[in-house]
Amino acid sequence: MSLFSKILIANRGEIALRIQRACRELGIRTVAVYSKADMNAKYVKLADEAVCIGPASPKDSYLNIPAIIAAAEVTEAEAIHPGYGFLSENADFAEQVLKSGFSFIGPPPNIIRQMGDKIQAKKIMTKEGVPCVPGFSKELPNDKTELIEIAKSIGFPIMIKAAGGGGGRGMRVVYAENDLFESVKMTENEAEQAFKNSTVYLEKYLPNPRHIEIQVLSDSHGNCIHLGERDCSIQRRHQKIIEETPAPKLSDGDRTMIGDICTAACKKFGFVGAGTIEFLYQDNRFYFIEMNTRIQVEHGITEEVTGIDLVQEQILIAAGEKLSFCQSDVSLSGHAIECRINAEDPESFVPSPGTISNWHAPGGPGVRIDSHIYVNYSVPPYYDSLIGKIIVYGKDRQQAISKMRVALSETIVEGIRTNIPIHKKIIEDNRFIAGGVSINYLEAKLDK
Ligand code: ADP
Repeated sequence: MSLFSKILIANRGEIALRIQRACRELGIRTVAVYSKADMNAKYVKLADEAVCIGPASPKDSYLNIPAIIAAAEVTEAEAIHPGYGFLSENADFAEQVLKSGFSFIGPPPNIIRQMGDKIQAKKIMTKEGVPCVPGFSKELPNDKTELIEIAKSIGFPIMIKAAGGGGGRGMRVVYAENDLFESVKMTENEAEQAFKNSTVYLEKYLPNPRHIEIQVLSDSHGNCIHLGERDCSIQRRHQKIIEETPAPKLSDGDRTMIGDICTAACKKFGFVGAGTIEFLYQDNRFYFIEMNTRIQVEHGITEEVTGIDLVQEQILIAAGEKLSFCQSDVSLSGHAIECRINAEDPESFVPSPGTISNWHAPGGPGVRIDSHIYVNYSVPPYYDSLIGKIIVYGKDRQQAISKMRVALSETIVEGIRTNIPIHKKIIEDNRFIAGGVSINYLEAKLDK
């Protein structure tokens, strides 16, 4: 087996540490890249080599393609792992990595590009038989009446979505005909600002769905398997806060059906790597919304119930290996839940960077902490506020919830504010405990 001997990790925070651990277990040396703000980070010190790629601002460091490629050149890394966020879904970056002679640990650039355009992604998925949210994905007319006709044919409420959107931004719900034209214009402007792509499309707004996504793994030899689903319905402002697998109340038949549809589609359009096909799920039906062509924050819960290390699989796939298991080898057992710990005020949700004066991580059987923080670590103000993930595994959902309750009660983070109080409330919430709440549930609860 000719695996890479050295991998550069083009990311920061918990995922940089997570990738580093996967590499070290495989006997692969690691190169950390860091901005000046992350100079003292634990994973930077733990890496075999570390290269400063620029000042704190993401555009000058973690989004600085020439600096990252130069770091790979000077350290003679063989492959680059982009993690999530930053450049992980930037097809130009993947292309330049390959052109510079490195392997990219992710899908081919053309797949990243296609799936990064949500209109294109829906077209491909529709063609391959994946059920999508009804909508209109062609160019929108500039005429108010025509636009209203289109929206009426889909049925109000309508969601206007940016083709290049991500991170829960670039979406707007319209309830009334009269607001449609202006809302389209506003969303186009915002999309241009945020994603440098003003294209928007219309989708039926589903009033009360759950968010259920399917994890897939495809090798470069045409094999593709799925690793079940994750329910990510506990969200605020379209951002996930708690994820769990299996999805409560989803039947084995439905899981197999949607998983098989996803793997068949991935085989057809030539997906390679680890990917997530995201759906809204309402009235026992799945509706595709988008595909992420990278490792996701919430990958750990799938690892817990399948026993498969997704980051290592990404590396093996990029090295040209065949998947060492087939669909019938994959068995899902037990239940896993993840709480994302963010450095933010639990009431106002304003980011709360600063120095962590005290940190006690929970432990015990079935408790996994993926975090890069330590006592006296300073959470920089420049990046995403995720400081760690508490992942628990139990033989069933009830046990996993109990474990999470205890884990949260043990966790101490002092010096900064975190969203742990919110997690404690959700995990004690009767509706959450009953299982299967919709994507609107958390916001409605927080509003009370
Ligand atoms: P992003 O790429 O920004 O994450 P997604 O398309 O994945 O955007 O949607 C994120 C979230 O927005 C979903 O999990 C869901 O909460 C909400 N959402 C997206 N599309 C719809 C829709 N058609 N109806 C209702 N909610 C939606």
